[in-house]
Amino acid sequence: MTTKANNQRCAVCGGELQATTITHEEKRDSHIYLSQNVPAKVCTACGEIWIDEEVLQQIDNSESTPYAYNSCKISG
Ligand SMILES: [Zn+2]
Repeated sequence: MTTKANNQRCAVCGGELQATTITHEEKRDSHIYLSQNVPAKVCTACGEIWIDEEVLQQIDNSESTPYAYNSCKISG
């Protein structure tokens, strides 16, 4: 029996995942959207960052994001 919610494993190496928060960067058109304090999981073995699909969808809806957004115009 697996408890997916509490005991996820890294899909790359099978290592243990540890909850963390990251700054997610997304380029759209000529802007970079930085969302801070995004809940994510980092693999303690290989360092791969995993973000829940649910969280990614929230980031995608930047107009109603629960996270702090900074938009920066790319110069050049
Ligand atoms: Zn890993």
